[in-house]
Amino acid sequence: MLNRSRIWLLFIIVLLLPCMETAAATNSTINITDTSLEDPSHSSVMSGTTSQEDAKRKKRSSSKDSLSLSQLMKRYPNTFKSRGPRVKQVALTFDDVPDPRFTPQVLDVLKQEGVKATFFVIGNRAEKHPKLVARMKREGHAIGNHSYNHAEFPKLTLPQFQNQIERTNQILQRITGIKPRLIRPPYGEINEEQLRWARKNNYKVVNWNVDSLDWKGLNKEEVKNNILSAVGPGAIVLQHAGGGVGSDLTGTIEALPEVIAELKKKGYSFVTLPEMLGVTEGL
Ligand SMILES: [Zn+2]
Repeated sequence: MLNRSRIWLLFIIVLLLPCMETAAATNSTINITDTSLEDPSHSSVMSGTTSQEDAKRKKRSSSKDSLSLSQLMKRYPNTFKSRGPRVKQVALTFDDVPDPRFTPQVLDVLKQEGVKATFFVIGNRAEKHPKLVARMKREGHAIGNHSYNHAEFPKLTLPQFQNQIERTNQILQRITGIKPRLIRPPYGEINEEQLRWARKNNYKVVNWNVDSLDWKGLNKEEVKNNILSAVGPGAIVLQHAGGGVGSDLTGTIEALPEVIAELKKKGYSFVTLPEMLGVTEGL
């Protein structure tokens, strides 16, 4: 009798085990997705293949030799950041620029509001629209490196990664006179080897802690709510001023004056990322 109940107990445990593993895997996926959802220029991420993307991320995050993004931030706190010191400041950041459809409108709003922001530039877009990059600089915004062609860094070898950064920095130096220190990895994704290279070469890798999700084509109210419901002292806000084919960033452009007004009313000041992090913009 005793033996039989032990066998039953074992049988039940064996049945339950896969459920427990699935729950753990789902949790870790949620954490990673939170910090890495981004980008209009790769529409596969947005257009209904989310489960495939999740599966890929799950696979990547569970491989033995790679740390999660939050583990990497803890291990390299001076190099890899997603927020600033907890003072009443906010850094607005705009990725995937320059894009003649959206970047001039974002620059117009910032100028009108007297706010300085940080733009993460894609190298091959800067080659096509250097005047827009020159305008960002002229109007007092900070400029960072968002790779040459929006590559997924963890899929690159170290030399390929270096090339993405250095080629883009050469282009930006020719246009602005500055070789940016700040890197924002496309999708927020980077691996440890690449971070170590960044640290050795005095770069700062900067993600975000407030995601507007504007690349999804959200309306003004949705973008505004995503930002205002999550913002706090030292927040780094992710928005886009450039996109892929068919992207619509009208929501982010229309939300911007109201987001700025609301945050000013709450006593926040707006700073560029180099100001927030206490580093020079150039290397
Ligand atoms: Zn991007």
